[in-house]
Parts: sequence; structure tokens; C-alpha cells
Amino acid sequence: MISPNAPVALCRCESYDKQILQNLLSMQWRQIGLSEAFFQNKKVALKPNLVRKMDASLGGTTHPSVVEAVAELCREWGAAEVLLVESPGGPYTEMALRSVYRLCGMERASEGGAFELNYDTAFRTVDFHEGIASKTFHILSPILYADVVVNLCKLKSHGLTMMTGGVKNWFGTIPGTEKFEMHARFPDIRDFSEQLVDLCAYHMQARPMLNVMDAIVGMEGNGPTNGKARKIGALLCSENPFALDDVASRLIAMEGKVIHLEKGRARGLVDTPVVIGEKPESLRVPDFLPPDSAKKNIIAKLSEIGDGKLMRLFEPRPAIDRKKCVGCGECVRSCPAHTITLDKKRRIAVIEPAPCIKCFCCQELCPKDAVKIKQNFLIKLVK
Ligand code: SF4
Ligand code: SF4
Repeated sequence: MISPNAPVALCRCESYDKQILQNLLSMQWRQIGLSEAFFQNKKVALKPNLVRKMDASLGGTTHPSVVEAVAELCREWGAAEVLLVESPGGPYTEMALRSVYRLCGMERASEGGAFELNYDTAFRTVDFHEGIASKTFHILSPILYADVVVNLCKLKSHGLTMMTGGVKNWFGTIPGTEKFEMHARFPDIRDFSEQLVDLCAYHMQARPMLNVMDAIVGMEGNGPTNGKARKIGALLCSENPFALDDVASRLIAMEGKVIHLEKGRARGLVDTPVVIGEKPESLRVPDFLPPDSAKKNIIAKLSEIGDGKLMRLFEPRPAIDRKKCVGCGECVRSCPAHTITLDKKRRIAVIEPAPCIKCFCCQELCPKDAVKIKQNFLIKLVK
């Protein structure tokens, strides 16, 4: 099991130049105590954040230069195989993977031969008896086949979990649309976060992992896909994903606001991480924009005092922007509560509000940024 006191290497990095990245990564890996033995003759799986088809310049996906730099370094340190494995939002088929790899720049990055792209869509059931919310998971087979997994996460705001980084990126080891089912099983953010902690804790004890965070340019506002690219200028590494996120949350002024991080701390998965390199305060972006749904946290606090049903009336909810919606149906397919339909005549999506569990999968996967977060007028007054 990975130590709750595993150190976090943090350095300033404002460039996606591959050589610069390799120099910094190699320094950071040694700073946190790794040696060539970590990769020597190992089958390595790289797990980036490719949430959906989008260009890396938008700040929503792990930059291809980071992937290439890490893959080449793994080879240099003796890795026998390096395979990129990801289950993006939406269907998990060979065709869908091809299109995500191409548009996220992974196809081109793989041309240098440092890593291969995975097209095997098999998965297996694993047991995790220590789990609190979930004791079994379906995990992508190529992840289970690897000796070492390098989690290549991206630092972004997130409509549901407030922040996505090291811990949340492990959710992409669950095959395709099953992720939506998991949202449906755990409509309450506290339960969903518990399940995220279970999944991450499973991976922490299953095989050695390294977590590398691309926080050079992240995403603020309505992340993880519809926010704005924001320069943060940082690169982070740690064997412990909770420690990594603890430090990352301080860079974007989210400390204390991320439920899965607090739950991981309560379970003893992270202590107070030792930071090697830059001080988090020197790279902090104090005006980093949270997602519009951040008001939900205020409401969640109110719910502890008042009636839960009343609280739900005030929660931010998704709404379709009719001017932007093109009726592609992506949100219909991604909604775990099956509460979105297509009005074929008008070619727009329609949300039935009552069954909505406010998971914001529709917002995450809409390719046209046509799903907005609507706030109750009373909540707007709190702003
Ligand atoms: S809201 Fe977005 S995902 Fe849904 S139909 Fe409209 S454009 Fe497509
Ligand atoms: S409408 Fe959107 S936010 Fe509501 S349950 Fe469906 S996907 Fe989740």
C-alpha cells in the first residue's frame, strides 16, 4: 500500500516542450524516491485524461507532449512495454477510441514509437472487500495486465466533484457507459465520492502507481470540458494520488472543498504531504474560477440544518441552451437518470427536471457547450 506520507514533487513549468518536460519529470521522479528499478522490464500502462474528443489547447485533456515525454522516459528507465489506456466518457468501442485518440493528439504523439495505443475493450471484475460504497469494480483489462500504471491526470474544475485531478482520473479505468450507471447508483455526491475513494484505494493496493499531473494549462469554470483554459504553470508527481490532489487543490484555491479528498483523509489514505521543490503558495492562482455548480456546496451545508427535500429545490440544475443545441443526442446517451429526450421536430434536447440527479454528465459530454448550469434566483442572491 502506498504511504499516506508519500512526498509530492512540485515544480514551475510553463512549457509543453518535450525536452523541458523530460528534464523536469526525471528530476521529480528522483525527488520522490523512484529509481530505474520502478520501470525496469515492466509493462507500463499510461492512463491519461481524455474525457472526450477535444483539442489539447482547450485545457480539458492531458497534453500529448506530457504523454510523449513520460512514455519516452519510461522507456529510458527500462520499461519493456508502454501502452496508453483510457475509457473516455461515452461508448467504449474501438471506433470511439480511434476518434478520441486522433482528436486529443494521441495518435500523432504515438507516432514516435514510445508508446502504443490500446484498442482492447475487454474488462474484468475485481473484488475490493475494504470498499465502503463499492466492493467490486469492472476494470479495463489492459490496466489489470500492467505491472505499473502511470496516472497522467489534468488539473481542472469539475461541476460535480469541484476539482478533478489524480483521484478522479482513476474513474476512467471503468469501461464506457458503466460510469453513467455508477452515477445513477450514487446520486448523492457524498456517496459518489465514497465510491471514488474506494476505486482509488483499490488501485493503490493493486499494483505500483505513479501519478503525474499536467497543471501547466488547466481548465477553470465549468470543467471538466466546458470551462476555459487557464495557465497554472505547474507540474506535479507523487506515488499517492490523494497527496497529489491535496497539493493541487491549494494551487487552485479549492482546499477543503473537495469531498473525495476529505473522505480519503478520513480513511487515512493521506496525511500532510511533504512537498519537494516549489512551495504551493508560490504557484497559487487565487482567482481560479470554480464551476457554476459550486453554489451547491453552500446549499449542501444548509441541508445539514434544514430539510433535505427543500435543499434539492435550490440546487443548481442543468438547462439546455436552445441556441447552441444541435440535437446530436450525446447527452441523451450519457444521462444515467434517462431524463433527457430529443425533440426531433425542433432538433433540441429536453430535460425532464424531476428525475435529474445533478451529476452533470450531460454538461461534461455535450460537444457544443449547450448544457448550462441554472441556479435558483435565491442562490444567485448569495453571490
Ligand atoms: S445539449 Fe449538447 S449533447 Fe445534447 S443534443 Fe444538444 S448539442 Fe447534443
Ligand atoms: S440531466 Fe444531466 S445532470 Fe441530470 S441526471 Fe441527466 S446527465 Fe445528470
